[in-house]
Order: sequence, then C-alpha cells, then structure tokens
Amino acid sequence: MADTIFGKIIRREIPADIVYEDDDVLAFRDLNAQAPVHVLFVPKRAIASLDEAKASDAELLGKLLLAAAAYARQQGLAEQGYRTVINCNEHGGQTVFHLHVHLLAGRRMHWPPG
Ligand code: C5P
Repeated sequence: MADTIFGKIIRREIPADIVYEDDDVLAFRDLNAQAPVHVLFVPKRAIASLDEAKASDAELLGKLLLAAAAYARQQGLAEQGYRTVINCNEHGGQTVFHLHVHLLAGRRMHWPPG
C-alpha cells in the first residue's frame, strides 16, 4: 500500500505527540482533536482501511482495540466512558489510508454521529 503520514510518524520522520507504543501499535494525539482526549491507535504494519483487512489481520486488529481500552483505563477515562471510531473510505470519513482507531473521551458523545 502507499505510504501515508502515519507511516512517517511511525518511522519518526515527522513529529507526533506519542502517548503509547508497543511492538505492534503506536498511539499519538490527533492534531485536530475533536474531544478533550483524542488519540489515534495505529498498527505499525499498515493496513489501508478496515475494508482491506484480512482474516490474518485479526490478531493485530484485536491488539489495536485492546491497546485503546487499556490506555483509556490507565488514563481514568473508562468509568465515564469513551468512544472508539474506525472511519472507512469516503463516506466513512476516512482521510488517512492507514487504518487507525480514534479514541475520543473527556466529553459526552452524541448519537447519531454527524
Ligand atoms: O479517520 P480519518 O482518516 O479521517 O482520521 C485521520 C485523522 O488523522 C484526523 O483526525 C486528523 O486530524 C489526524 N491527523 C493527525 N496528524 C496528521 C494528519 C492527520 O493527527 N499529521
């Protein structure tokens, strides 16, 4: 797949406010935060979108979600609650084609989303 700005962040070619890292996942604050806490959880092995994910990506996708949940718990965000979002392709609002999980917290979320 084509490289993206998230690939550059993972390789430390451009800066980001990194809040979590393990062997498979990098998490950093969204530059255009939509909530008091807005962190992106990105797999180091890039998948372009959820639509491109394969059965062989199941473990990596699980790790992404569990990393987001663990971070939320550690930051004391879980009791009040939070939202995780994966935007997919044009109508889903995806703008960076390196799959990522948005973690949004620190305010009440609304439904339906815009
Ligand atoms: O789901 P979507 O693809 O639209 O999300 C991409 C996100 O990446 C946006 O929320 C945008 O603010 C964020 N971003 C960022 N740093 C960049 C480029 C994009 O945090 N350098």
